[in-house]
Amino acid sequence: MESALYIVPTPIGNLDDITIRAIEVLKNATLIAAEDTRHSKILLDKLSITGTKMISCHDHNEEQRADIIIEEVKKGGVVALISDAGSPLINDPGYRVVTLCSKADVKVVPLPGPCALITALEASALPTDKFMFNGFFPVKEKELTQTVEALANVDYTAVFYEAPRRILATMEIVAKVLPEHDVTLCREMTKTFESFYRLKAREVPEFLKADPDRVKGEFVVAIGALKQEIDAIDPKVVNAVEELVKTTPVKTVANILSPLTGIKKNDLYNLALSLKEK
Ligand code: SAM
Repeated sequence: MESALYIVPTPIGNLDDITIRAIEVLKNATLIAAEDTRHSKILLDKLSITGTKMISCHDHNEEQRADIIIEEVKKGGVVALISDAGSPLINDPGYRVVTLCSKADVKVVPLPGPCALITALEASALPTDKFMFNGFFPVKEKELTQTVEALANVDYTAVFYEAPRRILATMEIVAKVLPEHDVTLCREMTKTFESFYRLKAREVPEFLKADPDRVKGEFVVAIGALKQEIDAIDPKVVNAVEELVKTTPVKTVANILSPLTGIKKNDLYNLALSLKEK
């Protein structure tokens, strides 16, 4: 196998999702750089890959590890970079290693494979032609609210990772800020309790509260765009909203203009929010 740094995705739940090529690289590796060596040993044992030299490579030691990786490849070795699950670098360590390797003229070979972001997007039933991946939702309420508000008038599907302990609180904010947006919660993908909840954002908190099992496990959240409805609004109304938001809260603008124009309050609210941000 050609000497290089190989970026090797591993399963996000179902162990059968490892690719033939990923197994080949792991079998031929002279060094495996893993986010957590103990965690990855479980997978390697299942693949009967034992005895390969391993080093940890995580957010706090990537730069030092890059030196070891570069040296290994330069002396003819095969290095496999893996994370705990899914694709390395996608909300996982590896970015600095890849950057330093490419600067050092070390060949980098990326393998396609499992990735929660892409798996979720495919099943979301939301448009996939244009999307934005945002990593995890911000934890602080103010930052979270601002991040969600910024999606009021975008024309793409927004995808986030979220932890089970935060999913309800986060979705309460999403429901409040973007009530009419379509949302898909992708839970425990590829695992026994794989579920896809496709709802309006405003319906999500009650739905989650109705069954404690619904907030268990790993989540990807996809939020659809509302742009089409907003695009259809008469430009005169858009101008009026633009003027009003300079002095009036967005909710009030929507409440005043909805009965006068016949446009849904939520559409006006989203429009007002996006114009206010501009
Ligand atoms: N690099 C990984 C990838 O390619 O998907 C993601 C790593 S990130 C630290 C872990 C987050 O991904 C989880 O907290 C969850 O939001 C999401 N995730 C990973 N596996 C998942 C699964 N099987 N179902 C749903 N979400 C998952």
